[in-house]
Amino acid sequence: ASGYSLLRDPHHNKGLAFTEKERDAHYLRGLLPPVVVNHDLQVKKMMHNIRQYQIPLQRYQAMMDLQERNERLFYKLLIENVEELLPIVYTPTVGEACQKYGSIFKNPQGLFISLRDKGKILEILKNWPQKKIQVIVVTDGERILGLGDLGCQGMGIPVGKLSLYTALGGIRPSACLPITIDVGTNNEKMLNDEFYIGLRQRRASGQEYAELMNEFMTAVKQNYGEKVLIQFEDFANHNAFDLLEKYRTTHLVFNDDIQGTASVVLAGLISALKLVGGSLADHRFLFLGAGEAGTGIAELIALEISKQTNAPLEETRKKVWLVDSKGLIVRSRLDSLQHFKKPWAHDHEPVDKFVDAIKTIKPTVLIGSSGAGQTFTKEVVETMSSLNEKPIILALSNPTSQSECTAEQAYTWSDGRAIFASGSPFDPVEYNGKVHVSGQANNAYIFPGFGLGLIISGAIRVHDDMLLAASEALAEQVTQEHFDKGLIYPPFTNIRKISAHIAAKVAAKAYELGLASRLPQPENLVAYAESCMYSPKYRSYR
Ligand code: NAP
Ligand code: MN
Repeated sequence: ASGYSLLRDPHHNKGLAFTEKERDAHYLRGLLPPVVVNHDLQVKKMMHNIRQYQIPLQRYQAMMDLQERNERLFYKLLIENVEELLPIVYTPTVGEACQKYGSIFKNPQGLFISLRDKGKILEILKNWPQKKIQVIVVTDGERILGLGDLGCQGMGIPVGKLSLYTALGGIRPSACLPITIDVGTNNEKMLNDEFYIGLRQRRASGQEYAELMNEFMTAVKQNYGEKVLIQFEDFANHNAFDLLEKYRTTHLVFNDDIQGTASVVLAGLISALKLVGGSLADHRFLFLGAGEAGTGIAELIALEISKQTNAPLEETRKKVWLVDSKGLIVRSRLDSLQHFKKPWAHDHEPVDKFVDAIKTIKPTVLIGSSGAGQTFTKEVVETMSSLNEKPIILALSNPTSQSECTAEQAYTWSDGRAIFASGSPFDPVEYNGKVHVSGQANNAYIFPGFGLGLIISGAIRVHDDMLLAASEALAEQVTQEHFDKGLIYPPFTNIRKISAHIAAKVAAKAYELGLASRLPQPENLVAYAESCMYSPKYRSYR
C-alpha cells in the first residue's frame, strides 16, 4: 500500500508516531513533517485540543473525527480518560448528537438497512468490509435514550455503544458492527427537517416490520454464524419485548435496556445493602416508569430474591410495585395492561398520584425509569426521607435533561441522607459541609464485560442467571473506600479490570449452564478475559 493511503486508513494510521524506519519502508517520506512523537504525547495533545472546546457537541465531533483518522489513538484516549470522555461519546452528549445527526453527519460509521432493502439484507451485510464480527448493536431509533423517536439518526447510539464495547470491554474494533434499521419515523420534526438522513415516511409496523426484522435476524446468523452477539438497543418497548422473546431461543441476543439495565441496578442495590442493612427481601421497591427498564429491573430483583429465599417468583414479585403514566399498577387495571406489566398488577386500591403511591406503599427504594425529567419532586424526595433513615433513590433516565431529579436535589431535599445514583453523571455536591459523590447507575458498567464473557466462552444463548452473575461481579468491585463516600458503584476509572471480572463470572455461568462452546474451559477466567482484551498499543510496521 502507498504511504498516502496508509495515512488515510484509520485502522493503521499512526500519524506523527510513524518511526523513521516506517517512514522509509512505507513511502511516507515527505508526507509527514520531520518530528516523530510517541503515543503518549499524541494523547496529551489531543486531550489538550479537546479541552479547548467548551461545547460538548464540539468535543463529540472532535472524538468522532479522531476515530475516523486514527483508531488506536481514539481508543487510547478514551481508555486513559474514561471518566472525562464517557459523557462525550455516550450519555448525555450522544443524545444531542443524535438529535443533530443530520447536520453533523460526515461518514457512515455503521450499516444502514431500510425498508427499501427488503430481500437484500444479506447482500448489504456483505458490503461491510470486516467479515469476522463478534458484536452487533442494532437500533430502529424509536426510543433513543429518553428523547423518543429519532428515526435513522439514532445511529449515534450503536456507534457510541460499540466504542464502549472496545474501550471498556476490550472487544476488537474490527469485530464490532453498528446497525440502524430504518423503518421510517413518527417524529414530525425529523420528517420536516431538510437535513434528515432517513426515510421520509411514517414508521412501518405489524407484519411489514416483523418481516424486515426477521430477514435481518436470519441474514445475521447466516453471515456471521451462531456466536455473534446481537444487542438490541433503544427500541420502543412494544417491539423490544417481542423481539427478545422471539429470538432468545434461536440467537445470541441481549436487550441492553431490559437486561443490561436490570443487571446494573441490581448490582447497585446489592452494594447499597451494605450501607442500609438487611437483605433484598427486607426491602420494598417502587418504580416510576413501567417500561423496558422498569419491568426488566423489577423482574431481576424478584428473581434474585426468589433465589435467595427459595420463595416462588409469584410471591417475591409482590415486593415490587410500579407506577406508569396512569398511576399505580394494580389488579383492577389488569385487562388493559400491556403484557409486560401484567405480572406487577398486585392487589391494591387504584392510586393516581405518584406521591400518594409512595405514601401507601412505603418503599425503601425508589427507582426512576420513566424518561420523564423532574418527576422526583421536592415532595417525592421529602416523603421518601420521612419514611426512611437512608432512602435509596435511583434516577435512571437519560440524558441529563430527563433525569428524575438532580444529585443536588436528592441530597438537599433528603437533608443529605439519600443514597443516590443516576443514569447520566452529576458532579459531586456539597451539602452542609459534606461532599456527596453520586454514582452513575448506567448499563455501561455491565454490557461491555457481559459481552466479553459471552464471547470468550463461545456462549450461544443468554440466560438470566448470567445477568445475576454479572450483578454480583460488579457489586464485588465496590470497596469500603467507595462506601465511605456514599458510592454504590465503583468509579469508571478501573472499568477494564471490572469488565474482566464481570466477563469471568458470566463465562463461568455459561460453562456451568452448558451454554459455552469454547472448550476446554480456561482455568483462570479472569486472566483469560484480560488476555483476550484489545489493547490500543501501536503495532510496528516492518
Ligand atoms: P419505556 O419502555 O418507554 O418506558 C417508560 C415508562 O415510563 C412507561 O411505563 C411510561 O408509562 C412511563 N412514564 C413516562 N412518563 C411518565 C410520567 N410522567 N409519569 C409516570 N410514568 C411515566 O422506556 P425505557 O426503555 O424503560 O426507558 C426509560 C428511561 O430509562 C429512558 O430515559 C432511558 O434513557 C432510561 N434508561 C436508562 C438506563 C441506564 O443505564 N441508566 C438504561 C436503560 C434506560 P406508560 O407505560 O403508561 O406509557
Ligand atoms: Mn439504551
